[in-house]
Amino acid sequence: MNHKTLQEINNELKATDAVLIAVSKTKPAEAILSLYAHGQRRFGENKVQELVEKYEALPKDIEWHLIGHLQTNKVKYIASFVHMIHAVDSFKLLEEINKQALKHQRIIDVLLQIHIAEEETKFGLSQAEALALLEDNKLAALQNIRICGLMGMATNTTDEEKISREFQGLKVFFDTIHNSFFNNQPHFRELSMGMSSDYKLALQHGSTMIRVGSALFGVR
Ligand SMILES: *Cc1c(COP(=O)(O)O)cnc(C)c1O
Repeated sequence: MNHKTLQEINNELKATDAVLIAVSKTKPAEAILSLYAHGQRRFGENKVQELVEKYEALPKDIEWHLIGHLQTNKVKYIASFVHMIHAVDSFKLLEEINKQALKHQRIIDVLLQIHIAEEETKFGLSQAEALALLEDNKLAALQNIRICGLMGMATNTTDEEKISREFQGLKVFFDTIHNSFFNNQPHFRELSMGMSSDYKLALQHGSTMIRVGSALFGVR
């Protein structure tokens, strides 16, 4: 995989509506600060403890995105500061995020993770499960969360047509959900898809947030 500079990626994003989440997991604070010095403010982590440690150590105007799977019992550690939670995959987790957000008198932005890959190991809701969650009449009571869109991870393959089909499928589902549940709700606008190896394809299919780690920071 080619290494990219922040500037190169930002140039690639200019013609799009997408933003870069720099995925800094396993990388030290200095690596984050060197991108921060060049203006990058959105960073993504996939583990709660590492996210908390980095939040405490680093400038407070960083927007922290939790991109990995989140266990219900760990929401409380990040609820005071997290900017967006990308991988919500159950109603129970939404309820807990709502509860902890309420304690901090804030509204936490979340994305629903949709399973689009072939691999069984990846987390996420099926389309049917996502629809059931959105149709749940208990959802309206969760006033301290805001569902801002969807997130997905394509199959880890070199087959670009397959990856494109998966991203396209997620985009179609995003549009369906938007029209059926979030019409006239401008905050429902995010489609978090694309990583180092496939973000170019994701951008072709309407990604609004690419989550890029190793292409920026080097291999982990
Ligand atoms: C690690 C990770 C990424 C970034 O992966 P790279 O291949 O290093 O760009 C993106 N999304 C999630 C959910 C991740 O865990």
